[in-house]
Amino acid sequence: MALKTGREYLESLRVRDLDARYLGEKVVDPALHPVIGPSINSVAATYDVAHDPDPTVRELARARSEHPTGAGGQGPGRPAPEGEVINRFTHIHRSAEDLVKKVKLQRVLGRRTGSCFQRCVGWDALNALYITTHEMDAALGTSYHRRFLRFLAYVQSEDLVCQGAMTDVKGDRGARPGAQEDPDLYLRVVRRGDDHIVVRGAKAHQTGALSSHEIIVMPTLALGPGEEDYAVSFAVPSTSKGVVFIVGRQAADLRCLYDPPLDRGNPRFGGHEALTIFNDVEVPLDRVFMCGEAAYAGRLVERFAGFHRQSYGGCKAGVGDVLIGAAALAAEYNGVAGASHVKDKLVEMVHLNETIYACGLACSSEGRKTPAGSYIIDLLLANVCKQNVTRIPYEMARLAQDLAGGLVCTLPSARDLASPETGEFLLKYLKGVPGVAAEDRMKVMRLIEHLTLGRGAVGYLPESLHGAGSPQAQRLVIGRQAPLEECKRAAKTLAGIA
Ligand SMILES: Cc1cc2nc3c(=O)[nH]c(=O)nc-3n(C[C@H](O)[C@H](O)[C@H](O)COP(=O)(O)OP(=O)(O)OC[C@H]3O[C@@H](n4cnc5c(N)ncnc54)[C@H](O)[C@@H]3O)c2cc1C
Repeated sequence: MALKTGREYLESLRVRDLDARYLGEKVVDPALHPVIGPSINSVAATYDVAHDPDPTVRELARARSEHPTGAGGQGPGRPAPEGEVINRFTHIHRSAEDLVKKVKLQRVLGRRTGSCFQRCVGWDALNALYITTHEMDAALGTSYHRRFLRFLAYVQSEDLVCQGAMTDVKGDRGARPGAQEDPDLYLRVVRRGDDHIVVRGAKAHQTGALSSHEIIVMPTLALGPGEEDYAVSFAVPSTSKGVVFIVGRQAADLRCLYDPPLDRGNPRFGGHEALTIFNDVEVPLDRVFMCGEAAYAGRLVERFAGFHRQSYGGCKAGVGDVLIGAAALAAEYNGVAGASHVKDKLVEMVHLNETIYACGLACSSEGRKTPAGSYIIDLLLANVCKQNVTRIPYEMARLAQDLAGGLVCTLPSARDLASPETGEFLLKYLKGVPGVAAEDRMKVMRLIEHLTLGRGAVGYLPESLHGAGSPQAQRLVIGRQAPLEECKRAAKTLAGIA
């Protein structure tokens, strides 16, 4: 089945036995878990969107597999035949238009879920590996691209979610992988067999760890001679022996366990991250896409990061739409929607949000064909996009909190609203303009709290800062890609300098 529904996706998760922990306890069924479940709903939305009643949205979410998909061999199921309709989240970009569609789709989903829908990281890894395995085979005579195509066919035909695992835990940031006190602080090959390798290490902050079927591992930084054991890329099922997930805490996460929906802000959707541990995991060679080619690690990292920095131009603009809407509603419910500074602050939020989106579209429109036949974003513009994303959501959050007022952080609970002793007081004293129920005003305050201070802020703020690399990582690429010589020539010409 190349195009699953959200329901079919949820069913596909139920038959698995993951080694996953949260708050010291085993997570038996992530989809039914009160804290993790909302993030699984966000991923399910990436499936449902491919069956959307609106044909424009449906078309955005669908693509055609363009590969003779070979003999499969990566797992159960049949390979998707060439030309079969697949979910865009498993597609290899074939044109600049595909890159643009990616950003538009991400905006739709950011707006629908108000959260990180977790499926972009693996998608970006697929696209980066497509190019890099092709490049390695052409230069080195390896067979990584063929192996990768078989894995891709499996992902497309089964409509799978992949976790994109790049970030190593890194220990002492000032020391190279091999110079760490513990060599496992960067994931590495510890044994090589005839038909498999064994890897050990851990990947930090893994988005959608428990909502993914497969984990695609990549190195975290450019590597050189002597660092071959760290130059490894592969895919393993999330249920593989030796893979352990330890889910991270999020601000106010326990509201999902103990509080009524009103206090959760965005009760249906969410995101989660986990520390993913590879405790001597055996990887069959037909799932290994780089093993020792240290010179290619940096190229893979740069391409993955480039695609992922593009992604933020879509998804965070979508979440920004929700925040703008919530801020506008708060102002309306407070009775200040007509004030000139309020209108101006909303204009500023729109301007900031569209700046992110414009950057996502720009790096996509300027995309170019690679020797592998797929398309890649303009790297300079993608890095400018993400650099903006490291700042803009913080300013948007400030403006939304400004417009919401102090209730955004002092609002009494849903239980106090339900209590016969205090409920009437809250209905009377938390009312804003006539005609708007106090409860609706409370809901919008909670949504702004959620996105700027609560669980939703994880995806909207620090993820915008660090996801796909901290700000300095983009500045390095911008510095490398900057056309400074061209700029100097232009200046010299105008100034009459020979
Ligand atoms: C919510 C969230 C989701 C994420 N999802 C994923 C995911 O799905 N997959 C994935 O692979 N990664 C993911 N990441 C990881 C993200 O890419 C990293 O957080 C990012 O690369 C920064 O790494 P770090 O967190 O280890 O911070 P650090 O690298 O420790 O950075 C902290 C600060 O130290 C600076 N610094 C670090 N090293 C050096 C150095 N050598 N010299 C000078 N300064 C240095 C940085 O510039 C930064 O200012 C996610 C992160 C977040 C927050």
